[in-house]
Amino acid sequence: MIVDQYARPLRNLRLSVTDRCNLRCSYCMPEQDYVWLPKDDILHFEEIERVVGLFTSLGVDKVRLTGGEPLLRRDLPALVSRLAAMSAIRDLALTTNGVLLESQAKALLDAGLHRITVSLDTLRRDRFQALTRSDELLRVLGGISAAAPLFPGLKIDSVIIRGVNDDELLDLVAFARGHEAEVRFIEYMDVGGATAWSMDQVVSRDEMLARLSAHHGTIEAIAEDASAPARRYRLPDGTIIGIIASTTAPFCEDCDRSRLTADGTWYSCLYGARGVDVRGPLRAGATSEMLETLLRTTWEARRDRGAEERLAADRRTPLIPIDTLRRDPHLEMHTRGG
Ligand code: SAM
Ligand code: SF4
Ligand code: SF4
Repeated sequence: MIVDQYARPLRNLRLSVTDRCNLRCSYCMPEQDYVWLPKDDILHFEEIERVVGLFTSLGVDKVRLTGGEPLLRRDLPALVSRLAAMSAIRDLALTTNGVLLESQAKALLDAGLHRITVSLDTLRRDRFQALTRSDELLRVLGGISAAAPLFPGLKIDSVIIRGVNDDELLDLVAFARGHEAEVRFIEYMDVGGATAWSMDQVVSRDEMLARLSAHHGTIEAIAEDASAPARRYRLPDGTIIGIIASTTAPFCEDCDRSRLTADGTWYSCLYGARGVDVRGPLRAGATSEMLETLLRTTWEARRDRGAEERLAADRRTPLIPIDTLRRDPHLEMHTRGG
């Protein structure tokens, strides 16, 4: 087990398998055109397996597949079975927009995937269309219906934006309960691609709790593992919900996660300006020892507290200007995997 400069271990890896996406969520991919990672740079499954093996030898035991949209990656279940066979991984999860989930849920389960999170911000078709520039709500709902019985405890992640979907908190709670799933409300973050972000659109955790308790009554906080991003709460009827307060109450202090992009660039913080190139040495024939040293020394030097630094900033505007994003797609949320 290795630790960084603030004694935070490396346990959690978010693994992006593609930067492509079949939706265009306004808080993630609001632009008309994107610069994609070159196809030849995308790591093959053998390469991913090798790199994940190095991470597990340094302490990673939780891996989450993400994207772009991970279900767009061809033969994803084949990658899942390779990772599921690694005994060091005790939690193997996937975050998806759900559009392609209905047809893939069973194959993912059979391949050994443990858990699924589906991102869904609205239950209204016209709103979904405006938010994602695509009329796929019914397919997402079909995906949730297919996956929920196969993956008990399925999570539904909803980014809440003032004036966009903040009137759907109660509906989303009821929808998740109806599928025996757990909804988690995410504060709107000023990360990479969120070029239209503004603080006044952020609905804070406190405000969400106040609105929920105005309807449901007293809400009880559940004691939890500090490194989990979501704080969980129990409503009076027993329903459990989560809130991820990444913008107004960041959890950098206990952050044990890092991100590997589909082209093998490793970021030790979601807000980090620069990543470490793992693909280069991997393809140049570096030994496992050399690669492990690269990962170890990077983590041991880590001082990232990106979201806390953003919180301390005086005037908060979108993090990265669009021209800069166009020059380096690695700065995009859809490349980093959220
Ligand atoms: N495409 C998949 C999906 O949407 O689930 C996986 C990748 S997506 C980048 C991962 C997560 O990041 C999603 O739950 C999405 O809602 C979240 N996300 C993207 N941009 C965000 C933002 N500006 N603020 C908060 N969450 C954001
Ligand atoms: Fe939306 Fe996920 Fe695609 Fe971003 S990567 S546009 S959050 S579906
Ligand atoms: Fe971890 Fe960086 Fe997110 Fe803070 S901002 S929780 S350090 S990834």
